Amino acid sequence: MGQERTPSLFAPDLSMTPEKPVGDRPERMKVLITVKAAPQPSSTYGETVCVAGLRLDLASQGWIRLYPINFRELESNGRFRKYEVINLEARPSHSHDSRPESWRPVIPSIVKSGYLKDWKTRDPYIADYIEESMCRMFAEAKRTKNSRSLAAIRAKVVKGIDIEPHPGWTPQEQRKIDQYVSQQELGSTVPRSALEAPRFKAWYKYDCWGGKCAGHRQGILDWELVALQRRFSELGDDHLKEVIYHNFFQRMCGAERETIFYVGNQAKRQQTFSVLGTYYPKAM
Ligand SMILES: [Zn+2]
Repeated sequence: MGQERTPSLFAPDLSMTPEKPVGDRPERMKVLITVKAAPQPSSTYGETVCVAGLRLDLASQGWIRLYPINFRELESNGRFRKYEVINLEARPSHSHDSRPESWRPVIPSIVKSGYLKDWKTRDPYIADYIEESMCRMFAEAKRTKNSRSLAAIRAKVVKGIDIEPHPGWTPQEQRKIDQYVSQQELGSTVPRSALEAPRFKAWYKYDCWGGKCAGHRQGILDWELVALQRRFSELGDDHLKEVIYHNFFQRMCGAERETIFYVGNQAKRQQTFSVLGTYYPKAM
C-alpha cells in the first residue's frame, strides 16, 4: 500500500475542474467504464443507473459521468460491463445536474469497442488518475460549487466495513416505483416488475493519505453490492452479511491488495461522497 508511482509524461492535471461545453449539442466520445452504481428507482424506466469512467478522447480526457442509463431497456448488444470501452454520443447536463463531469448519454448510440480483462491491462489507464487525499476533495466541495465530483482515492488503511439492514425505499422512491409498475407497456402483456431494495447497505471506514485525515465513512453505492445480494438471496441474514464482508472487505481490502475507491458526490448534496466502486489490483 502507498507505494509511489511515477506519473507519466502525459499525466492529467487533477487540480483542474473539467470544462463542460455550454448548449445541448451531442458530442461523440470514447469512454472506459470504471463505475456502475447501484440501480435507483425511476418512474419512467423502473430503474436507472449512474455510470462513470474515463474519457479517452485525446482532446478531452478525464472523468465523466453518464446518467441516466436504463440497463433493463438497453438492447442486449449495448449492455456493457465495467472496464468495457464504449463509443457513444452524449449531451452535456446542465439544469438537472450541473456537476462538471455529468453528461446525458444518447442510449441508441452506444457501441462497445473492447474490454480490459485484467488489472494489468487496466492499470495504464487508471494509474494517472489515482489520488491520495479524500480530505482535499471534501475541502474543495466545501469551497466551491463547481468542484470535481468524481475521483479515485487510494486508501491508506481500510479500517472496516459496516453492514446494516436496508431501511427500504423512501416514500419518494416508492412513489416512483409504483408509478412505473402501474403503467402497462404498449402492446405488452407482461406486468412490469418493481425494483426491490437490497437487504443490506454497507459503508467503508478508511483513512486517506491526506495530512490530518480523521477518517472517512462512506456508503457503498456499487452495483456489485446489489448483484451479490441477488446472487445469494436464498441465504439467511447472518450468512449474507458474511458473504458481503468476505467480498467487500477481506477480498477487496486485503493486505495483498492495493485498495483504491472510486468516489462520487450527489448532485443535490455535493459534500456527500459515496464509494461507487473499488479498484483493487494485487499490491506490488
Ligand atoms: Zn482523509
